[in-house]
Amino acid sequence: MKRWTHWLGVKSPHAADYVPSAPAQTGDLCIQYLGTAGFVISQDGHYVVLDPYVTRPDLTTSLTQPLVPNAALIQRLIPRANDVLIGHAHHDHILDGPDLCKQTGARLIGSSSTVHVGIAAGLPPEQLVSTEGREDIASGSWTVRGFPSRHGKIFGRIPFPGDLHAPPPWPARMHQLRHGLVLNWLVDTGKLKVMHIDSADFIDEELQGHRCDIVCLCAIGRQARPNYVRDVVRYLKPRWVIPCHWDTMITPIESVPDLLPGVDLPGFIEEIKAAGATPLLTPILGHQRFS
Ligand SMILES: [Zn+2]
Repeated sequence: MKRWTHWLGVKSPHAADYVPSAPAQTGDLCIQYLGTAGFVISQDGHYVVLDPYVTRPDLTTSLTQPLVPNAALIQRLIPRANDVLIGHAHHDHILDGPDLCKQTGARLIGSSSTVHVGIAAGLPPEQLVSTEGREDIASGSWTVRGFPSRHGKIFGRIPFPGDLHAPPPWPARMHQLRHGLVLNWLVDTGKLKVMHIDSADFIDEELQGHRCDIVCLCAIGRQARPNYVRDVVRYLKPRWVIPCHWDTMITPIESVPDLLPGVDLPGFIEEIKAAGATPLLTPILGHQRFS
């Protein structure tokens, strides 16, 4: 397994480099990559967090133990959130969401399965928003909207499929967190539109005709979806694509990450360019700013 920086010559951030919640220039949209499929999108004091997963238990813990969110790490790395959007209820997308909501007072927004996880973790009803997608939800002066989607196949199959029909045990084990309805989230600030695709599949009819400026695009499993990158760019016509979900997600978040075998990150970047968009490869905990 090779470290991704060996291929790309990109410096990965370490704890000493990290400046928590660096303020954006007034009016800039700031997108911070949290690793896995996690992002913080912020502007002028409004913070929308997607799929936070900074706890990153190691492989043995992930496979054998109930997964306990690291509350102190969440508080240090994600000090602010107004709304937390969940793409699907697998552990690597939802684990830190409820704790982040408890710490910040943010709402946890996602499928009914996501809401069951929020209930299991002890969130009160006023901090839980269930959606089946295709509806605009106000987030401050922004609008967020879920687009029904599909989970990608990993090594030929969809892991832990199905819905949660009741709150799971909490803390939960990996297999107890079924993905539920998968949602691609569109965050519309009124000036820029950001689409978050947190798994390597989608429903063509749902995305067609919804132009956006920036796509946060999952790299794991893209080979299982023919023309995945090409069709995302063709439908959404983004100017920029931020790759995500390319590392093993079992290393501590402030260590140099390991590239997930089979992801072919350089090939992913070339596909983004060939489709006509600009890739913005972003180190974990790194930022991109848009004015
Ligand atoms: Zn998943």
